[in-house]
Formats: sequence, structure tokens, C-alpha cells
Amino acid sequence: MTVPGALPGAAPFEGGKSVRAALNEVARTLEPVSDSPRLDAELLIAHALGVSREAMILHRLGDPVPEGLAALVERRLAHEPVAYITGSRGFWTIDLAVGPGVLIPRPDSETLIEAAIEYFGARTPARILDLGTGPGTLLLAALAEWPDAMGLGVDASDVALDYARRNAAALGMAARAGFQRGDWGQGLDARFDLILANPPYIGTEEPLPAQVRDYEPGSALFAGPDGLDDYRRIIPDLRRLLAQGGAAVLEIGWTQSESVSAIARNSGFAVTLYKDLGARPRALLLS
Ligand code: GLN
Repeated sequence: MTVPGALPGAAPFEGGKSVRAALNEVARTLEPVSDSPRLDAELLIAHALGVSREAMILHRLGDPVPEGLAALVERRLAHEPVAYITGSRGFWTIDLAVGPGVLIPRPDSETLIEAAIEYFGARTPARILDLGTGPGTLLLAALAEWPDAMGLGVDASDVALDYARRNAAALGMAARAGFQRGDWGQGLDARFDLILANPPYIGTEEPLPAQVRDYEPGSALFAGPDGLDDYRRIIPDLRRLLAQGGAAVLEIGWTQSESVSAIARNSGFAVTLYKDLGARPRALLLS
């Protein structure tokens, strides 16, 4: 089987080749569409084999190339995100089911969990709120970190809430995680020790890679001309929703530290900046 749409000269990935050989070929083929072609190749081939990436690398390199690999590579060549193709993405210590209609968890967002851990130290934030939870990303990662905590995830999207509920169940957290449809903090009247949010923060006209722009939900990405619309709506509610001694941690775009800090200070918060693994501003802790 050949790969329609593949680059000229790209070899077919089937026909008696080993997984080891296919890894190199698929990685090379994906170079033009991916910043992480080798990792993509590993994840796609492991998915086609029906095993974890670790199990594939440890035990399956000598196997014949799995059937169906070419079709998966073809989808990736059309810029579809790997996580939508495999249906899952690792985040912090957990795996989350994802698909069209939900924002795929990014490693950068782990900065928020790290900030919260630093703030609470040996304490447990007993009640956690995740505004714009998507597939449950920040809430379920936090509940994995603090096994005695309970949490609520809010999202405007029913598709996202479906994924979030299924993820909570799959992780054995259904009894500790509630999910409800909502518009940020509006209408909530409980108080929380930790509030997490990764709102949309991309400016409407900002360019995005095709794998994001053409596949992930715009409602989770774009927030008005300057990308700040949702911070202006979320932050004024936070004081009312925070318990004594609590903190809110918000993800930001790396150029937005000053502008979002100013909105937070206007609402009476002290602000601490956290940087991601690439040393770029990524999260603000409000207390
Ligand atoms: N970090 C994401 C991206 O750059 C955007 C997520 C968001 O807007 N909250 O693709």
C-alpha cells in the first residue's frame, strides 16, 4: 500500500518491514509537518500495534509493521494532531482521552500544577475548581496529585464535558470530580481552595500552526483581538470564589504577563509569575 499525499520518494510502511525500520521512515516522512517527527512516529506505530510507546520500544521493535499504519501517517501528513489520531494524550501523571471538539493538553499547562504544588506545600487544597476544564485536564491532574481533594470542572462545551466525565471515570475519580456546563464563574456560589483555568488567550488574528487552527476548537483558543477577553470576564469573579488562604492559577500566553497581571491587580490580587520549561511566562498565581 502506498501513501497518497506522501512526499515523493517516501517509502510505503508495510510489506514485511520491521517496526524498527518503519520508525525511521515514518519519522523522516513527518519532518515537514511536525516539530516532533520521531515522537509522532513512535506514538502512531504504538497505536497501530495496540501497545504503549514504552512497550513497543522495549519489546516490539522486531515485529512486522502493523496493518493500518499508512492510513494513520496519511492523517498526520494532513496536519491532524497525533492525539486526535490516537485518541489520547498524557498530561502530568495521567492519560486523558481526547478527540475533535476538545483542546489537547499541552506540556506547558503542567506549569499550573507545579505552581499550585509550590503554593500549597504540605497542605491539600480540599476543594478545586477548573474553569474551562476541556477533557478534564487540569482538574484531573490536580485530583491525581491530591488524593483527598474534591473538584468541580466547568465548561461551556457539552463535547468537552462528555470527555471530562469519561476521563474521570476511567481514572477512578468519578466520585471526587463533578462536571457542569457553565460560563466561567457565573452562577457558582461555592468557595474553592484552588482555582485553575487555561482559558482561550490567542488574539483573533494571530497565526497558528495548521494542526491547531484546522483541528482544535476555536472556542478554546481565541479570545478577542488581544486575546484577553476571557481574563476580563474570569478574574473579577475569582475573589468571590476563593476560600480563605486559597489561590487561583491562570495559564497565559507568553506575551501576556504584564497585561493579565494588571487585570488581576485591579481586582486586588497579588500576582506571582511562573515560567514553562522553555523559560517563557506561562502561568500567574493570584492570591
Ligand atoms: N497554548 C495553546 C496554543 O498555543 C493555546 C491554548 C489556549 O489558548 N488556552 O496552541
